[in-house]
Amino acid sequence: MDTQSAVEALARDAQYDLSCACGTSRNDDHRRRGAEGRWLYPVTVPGGGTGIMLKTLLTNSCTNDCRYCPLRQQRDYPRVAVAPEKLARFFMDLRTKRKLVGMFLSSGVLHSADHTMQRLIDTARILRKHHGFTGYIHIKIIPGASREAIREAFALSNAVSLNIETPGARHYSRLSAMKDYHSDIIEPMKYISELSRSTGKHQTTQFIVGASDETDREILAYLWRLYQGLGVYRIYFSSYQRGLGDPSIPGESETSDGEQRFVREHRLYQADYLVRSYGFTFDDFLFTDGSLSLEKDPKQLWADAHPEFFPVAVNSAGKTSLLRVPGIGPTLAARILKVRKEQTIRDLGEIRIPRHLAEKAGRYLRFN
Ligand code: SF4
Repeated sequence: MDTQSAVEALARDAQYDLSCACGTSRNDDHRRRGAEGRWLYPVTVPGGGTGIMLKTLLTNSCTNDCRYCPLRQQRDYPRVAVAPEKLARFFMDLRTKRKLVGMFLSSGVLHSADHTMQRLIDTARILRKHHGFTGYIHIKIIPGASREAIREAFALSNAVSLNIETPGARHYSRLSAMKDYHSDIIEPMKYISELSRSTGKHQTTQFIVGASDETDREILAYLWRLYQGLGVYRIYFSSYQRGLGDPSIPGESETSDGEQRFVREHRLYQADYLVRSYGFTFDDFLFTDGSLSLEKDPKQLWADAHPEFFPVAVNSAGKTSLLRVPGIGPTLAARILKVRKEQTIRDLGEIRIPRHLAEKAGRYLRFN
C-alpha cells in the first residue's frame, strides 16, 4: 500500500479520537471535516485565522482490548501501519501543497506502551529536527507510558492528550481487562499535569460516553476535579457508537441508542462550557437519577430552579450574575458591561443583539 492510501486508512480510524485542542473556535472544530474526508480538517488556529490539520494514527493495529474500540485486537479488521519517516515526509510534501498548520498524532498500541511512544516521538523528532517543522504537533500519550517517554513527547509537541475514558476504575475495568485505571491513566495524567504547569503546554483528555453505565453526575464530578486539580485544558466527549464495540459491552443496549446519544454528548459539552466560561461549579448542575436533562440545557434548568436569583439588574450586576441569565453568554455580557459605562441600558435592543436572545434574556432582567 502506498503512503497516501495508508494515511487515508489510518486517518479514517483516527476519527474516534476528538481530544485535540488545536482548534479554538466554539464551532466544535473536532467534529468538522474537510473536503478530503476525514484525514484533513479545518481548524481555527490559536491566535486567529484558520488552517488545516492532518490527524492520523501511526498504526491501527493494537494489542489492547478496549471493548468500546473498533481497533481492539480481538476484532477481525484490516491492519495498516506507516513508518515514522514516511509519515513525516508525507506530511511535509502535503504541507507545501496545502495550508497545513499541524498534525494530531496518535496510534494503536504496538508491542508495548513505550515502544509505541517511541514511534510517535520519532515522527515528531523527524518533523522538528530533520524537516525543521515549527508548526503545531499534538501527541496522544499511550496509556501506561513511562515518565521518560512522556517527557520526550512533551518536549517535541505543543500539546498532549491522554484519554481518561471513564469516571473511575469501576467503569474502566468493565471495558478493559488489560489496562489499569490508576497506574496506566491517572498516574501519567498527574505527571503530564506537572509538566504542563511548568511549561504552559496544554493537556487535554476525553471521556467515552455510554459504553459503561456511568452517569452524567459521575462524569461531571471527574470533569470538575480534572479542571480544578490537574489543570486539564480541555475535556472532550465521544459518545459510544453501538455496533463498533464488543456486542456484550455493558452499556451497549442501554445508553447508546440513536439520536439520544448525541443529545447526551451535547449536554455534556454544554455543562463543560458552563464550567470553563460561565463560572458554574459541579454543585450547580441538576441531575435526575444521575443524568442531565435531555430536554433542557443545564443553564436553563439552573435558572428554572433559582427564581429567587432573578431578575438580574442589567445596569449594575457583575459579570458572573449576568452569565447566569438564559440567553446571555460571555460575548453579550462583555458588551453589556462596555455599553453601560457610557449609558443606562433601558432595553436590550439598544445594544444590538438578535431579537430572540433579547426576548429570552429580557424576561430575567430588570432595567431600572
Ligand atoms: S488502546 Fe484501546 S482505545 Fe486505543 S486503539 Fe487500542 S483498543 Fe483502541
